Amino acid sequence: MCCSDCQDVSGVSAASVEDHAAHVRELLQPMTNRTAESVTVADAVGRVAHTDVASPVDLPLFENSQMDGYAVRAADIASVPAVLRVVGTVAAGGAHDRTLQPGTALKIMTGAPVPDGADAIVPVENTTSDGDDVTINVSREAGEYIRQQGSDVRRGMVLVRAGQLLAPRHVAVLAAVGLSHVDVVSRPRVAVITTGAELVDAGSDLQPGQIYDSNGITLAAHLRANGADVVAVLRSSDDPEVFRGVLASAVTAADLVITSGGVSKGDFEVVKDALEPMGGTFGSVRMQPGGPQGTAVVDGVPVLNFPGNPVSTVVSFVVFARDIVREAAGLSPLPKHTVPLKNSIDSIRGKRQFLRGSVQDGHVSLVAGPGSHLVAAMAWADVLVDVPADVTALDAGTEVSVVAL
Ligand code: AMP
Ligand code: MG
Repeated sequence: MCCSDCQDVSGVSAASVEDHAAHVRELLQPMTNRTAESVTVADAVGRVAHTDVASPVDLPLFENSQMDGYAVRAADIASVPAVLRVVGTVAAGGAHDRTLQPGTALKIMTGAPVPDGADAIVPVENTTSDGDDVTINVSREAGEYIRQQGSDVRRGMVLVRAGQLLAPRHVAVLAAVGLSHVDVVSRPRVAVITTGAELVDAGSDLQPGQIYDSNGITLAAHLRANGADVVAVLRSSDDPEVFRGVLASAVTAADLVITSGGVSKGDFEVVKDALEPMGGTFGSVRMQPGGPQGTAVVDGVPVLNFPGNPVSTVVSFVVFARDIVREAAGLSPLPKHTVPLKNSIDSIRGKRQFLRGSVQDGHVSLVAGPGSHLVAAMAWADVLVDVPADVTALDAGTEVSVVAL
């Protein structure tokens, strides 16, 4: 966290965003060693294939009819009209156990196996039924309207590659070749702890000074949207002993714990007070919002400590944790784009700013002000605008880096 050659405005040593991001990456590196887990194909949408999946069978599984019609010997209908004796019917799911003899036809339905001896299907539209006979009105060549075994998939063919994010279309082929399960990348297990005596659940009656806990739900939503398995969303009061107890339960089932609140310079900085004696490091990062940051390792589990202001919490997640969580889940990082500013902006020298913006017609404009409590403005923004630390003003039209919020 610390970078001894830099000072923030308060004189406390402060790290650059890059240094703190590198520190977080090092802490979270073990989480990115991807392990496999077997899930049913029915539950596989939204998961990432861990290994290449090869087909155990040909598709189609067997030669079958593409149309409702008649299975014939093409040689019998080289000149039309041709009258053939209908010797039976074969439906999808059925089979015909005798070889089709010259001068005869079998009524056949779409998907039914083509009987031995037949080499063409005549669609019902090209025929006239006449008691035990059928008149073929259109000549068809060998192979017509027959789906060949293996014409779609050959046994052993790779159907999805390792790393593929599985969509319904992938599930379709996995199910068609008869696979019931698929190995996917295990989700990183993350626990969230919010802190603050003022916090209550949405839907509760508010006492004076209380507010709804939005960070728990918000962090869980961001985590799930980026491939994590949110194993717990817990809350602690501002009592360090209570926080330690909550954290002790969180680390038992998680690869990562994220906390919000209690890391800055007030009187009741529960996270800092609890974790500093346990070897946690706390300090300032030269950014806004999200300046106060902490990290710790508890029982071998990395703990990221974000500030409690709702915008600061989200910006901290996006800047320091999102790409690593995605990587652990087998997902690629969200791309950064360069977009021109619609209007000129001011920024604070010495702090990298992550402003909420909205991209429209190829330009980005800021949504409301820089306040870390402006949670509705964050809802209306679709990107974070990354303004470098050394910049104090940018003219309209200047290209800035943005990343999805
Ligand atoms: P802290 O970082 O604990 O000093 O909190 C900074 C501000 O964020 C205070 O106004 C808190 O009330 C608010 N805050 C902290 N945690 C949450 C939370 N989980 N949900 C909503 N607001 C919060
Ligand atoms: Mg607090």
